[in-house]
Parts: sequence; C-alpha cells; structure tokens
Amino acid sequence: MSSQLDSKPDQAPDESEHVLYLYETRRKIYARRFKGFFRKLKKRSSIPMLLAYFLTPWIQIDGRQAVLFDLPARKFHIFWITFWPQDFMLLGWMLIICALALFAITILVGRVWCGFVCPQTVWTMMFMGVEHFFEGGRNKRIRLDMAPWTFEKVWRKTGKHAGWVLIALVSAYTFVGYFNPIRELSSDMLSFSAHPAALFWIGVIAVMTYMNAGHLREQVCKYMCPYARFQSVMFDSDTMVVSYDESRGEPRGARRRGGEQEAGKGDCVDCGLCVQVCPVGIDIREGLQYECISCGLCIDACDAIMDKVGSAPKLISFTTENKLHDKQARLFRPRLLGYGAGLMVMMSLFFYALATRTPVELDVVRDRALLYRETSRGLIENIYTLRISNMDNRNHEFLITADGDYQFRFIGQEEISVLAGEVVTHVVRLELDPGFLRTGNTDVNFVITAGDDETIRDTETSRFIGPFLR
Ligand code: SF4
Ligand code: SF4
Repeated sequence: MSSQLDSKPDQAPDESEHVLYLYETRRKIYARRFKGFFRKLKKRSSIPMLLAYFLTPWIQIDGRQAVLFDLPARKFHIFWITFWPQDFMLLGWMLIICALALFAITILVGRVWCGFVCPQTVWTMMFMGVEHFFEGGRNKRIRLDMAPWTFEKVWRKTGKHAGWVLIALVSAYTFVGYFNPIRELSSDMLSFSAHPAALFWIGVIAVMTYMNAGHLREQVCKYMCPYARFQSVMFDSDTMVVSYDESRGEPRGARRRGGEQEAGKGDCVDCGLCVQVCPVGIDIREGLQYECISCGLCIDACDAIMDKVGSAPKLISFTTENKLHDKQARLFRPRLLGYGAGLMVMMSLFFYALATRTPVELDVVRDRALLYRETSRGLIENIYTLRISNMDNRNHEFLITADGDYQFRFIGQEEISVLAGEVVTHVVRLELDPGFLRTGNTDVNFVITAGDDETIRDTETSRFIGPFLR
C-alpha cells in the first residue's frame, strides 16, 4: 500500500447544506498527491499538449513559422494553410466545429476536457508539481504555512515562487511567439532590442499565468470559466460523470480495528481521502456538483482505500446516472445525434470550402477622380487599379486580360509576378473607339490567371465609362 495512506486523513465535513457567501474568503486547498490510473492519464494527456504548445512556434515550413498569427499583415498561417481576412468565415466555421465537438464530447463523457486537457488544469498541475517539489506533501505544506517565518520557510517559498515565475515567463514568451515570429523575438531579446509591445504582452501573460495557475487555481473554474457554467445543462442521465455510489457507500462510518464491516454499515469508511485529493476541494459524496472537473483523482484515492479495507473498487467511479441506478443505458440520444449531425455538416462545408477556395484574389478599383479621358487619338480611356493577392504558398506569374461587349485596347503590363503571400497593386488602362460605344457605360471583366496553373484564377467585373450618347 502506498505511503500516502499512512498519515491520518482529515474528516470530511458533516454538513447537510453548504451556504456560499458572495464575498466569502477563499479556503486554501491543500490537495493531496495520490498515485493512480487517473493521475497517470492526466500526466500522459498533458505531456503531448505541453510539448505541442512549447515546440510548435519553432517549427518552420517553407522558410516561415509554421503556426503564426500575423496580426499586422492580417494573415494566420496554420501549417500549410494561410488564412487571409477574406477567409475569416472559415475561421468562424472552425470555431463552430470546435464548439460542436466539445458539446458532443461533453454529452458523452462529461467534463473530460476540464479534467485532462484544459490549459488551466494542465498549468495548475505543473505549478502544483513545483509546489510539491519545494514544500513537500499536503501535511508538510499545511505545517509550513502555519509555521513562523524561518530560513527554511523563506527558501522553500522563494524557490516555489521562482519556479512559478520561470514557468509563467516561458509560457508567456511562447504565447507571444505565436503572434510575433519567435526566432526574431529571441534574437531581439538577446540583443535587448525587443519591441516594447512584445515585452508588455509577455509581462501581462506571465502575470496572468502566475496568478491563474499559482494562486487562483480552482477559482478560475468555479467563477471565471463560462464553460463550467453551462456544461451541466448538456448532461443527461447517460453522460459519464464521476459519481459516488450512495446505495453501496451509505451509511458511512469508520471500521473497527481489523477492518471488519459492521452490520448495516456501507462501504465508505469516511476516511475523507477523496476530499483531500480533490483539486477543487469538494466532497463528491454530496452528489454531482458544478465544481467537479471530472479529473478522477478521487476515484484513484477511493479505489486504494477499498483495496486496503478489502472491499470491491469503484465506490466512486466514472459512470452514468442510469448505470448507477441499474437502468437501461442509451448511447445514441437525440441531442448527441443532433450535435453529431451538426458537426458532420459543418466539417463537410469547411473542408469543401477549404479544398475549393482559390488562392488568389483580384480587386479592381476604377479611377474615381476621372470618369473617362479622351486621348490625342480620339479614343476613350478609363484607368483601373488592380490589387492582386497571392494567397498561395508559391510565387506566381499572372496573366491579366480584360474583355466585355467591346474589343478594348489594353495598355499596361499584361504579366505580373506576385510572390507567395504578397499583395501587389498594378495600374492598367483600357481604350475604346467611341464609335463602338452604343451606351454610356458597359461592363468590363478583368481576369487574372496563373501562368503555371490555370486553375488559379480570379475574375472581377468593373465598368467602362464613356460619354453619354443620345
Ligand atoms: S470530485 Fe473527484 S473528479 Fe471531481 S474534481 Fe474532485 S477529485 Fe476530481
Ligand atoms: S468515498 Fe472512499 S475515499 Fe471517500 S471517504 Fe469514503 S471510503 Fe474514503
């Protein structure tokens, strides 16, 4: 049996109701560390996430940062795809897809996002690791907090806060590296020439990380996170939640020496360990509470106790309300099917739009200062400014053509090269013999086509204006 069980645990509060005052002082939670399946799962799910977060900005693709939210250029590079301002609808769809996926997962398995991969949970876990390293286990931390300020207390507290500040700074630096090329940021930092805005945001995000993961912890989930507020409305009786089996555990009570169970007593030995390991400080035996982030740590603790007293595990388990009450479980429920169908439709639309989007855009602006001009040869001339955005990852040479109901004479450069991700403006003129013009104005279609790939093309219609003819 693990040594964590050797020290005498606290008794769980025996209260039939809990009154929460609006401005009540926070009760500091000293969560006990406990080894078990769910702690391991939590670690294993957060390590890839942390590696992805810290390493992604360092990955380069085609000479640029693979993931970069370039706000000044209004371009978001996400690996091989670049989202331009005109693609913001796609980004909106992507957010809807993420939301629908989260809703569907919540209906199925409850708040596993919160318990295992939410950044607040993962960073808090890292900060708790540092705390454990410097201040020791739960009982040592309680004693240290109550002890007077000695040299030992000072160095332990200083070490902990220094560790927290370091993690907060590295996290903030990486975060800013998603918006400001991280390699440039690093060389600017090393040469003390980083932009004040970058330093400001590193400072702000570091303070937020330090406060959220070091001090606020479960309060972020309880009072600040909107998802925690509405997730319970998504639950139904077939949603997997962390539940205490009251019919088996009650009436609770300590066992006699030797571990014999008294007649009429339930399996819960009222050791309070499930409360001590809980990072949000709740007692799951009081039923499902909105604070519960489904981390499963109380399951690990209770299973170990059940093992120690010789009872069957799963007094606390990940289960559904229907299973707990021996009712028929349903996997496919109307709400889940609805979210699933919505998810499929949105994903199909998203990938279709992504696959068929043209990586070039042409905007044509007619010279507004002058309706038309008559040349020395008696021709009518209109001037246009073309704005060509090459949203592809390759450079292209574009051929420009203009046609309509009449044979226009094209004056200007007909081929123009645009680098990958660049926008160029290009002025062209069109001339027409006024004898051909039967109306005061007519449509003119500008077309640009990439020389190396005819599927990369865009068209924009403008007007050709001449003298009004009676
Ligand atoms: S009650 Fe259990 S599952 Fe819920 S937050 Fe506490 S330890 Fe995690
Ligand atoms: S539910 Fe399990 S861990 Fe919690 S007090 Fe009862 S026996 Fe202890």
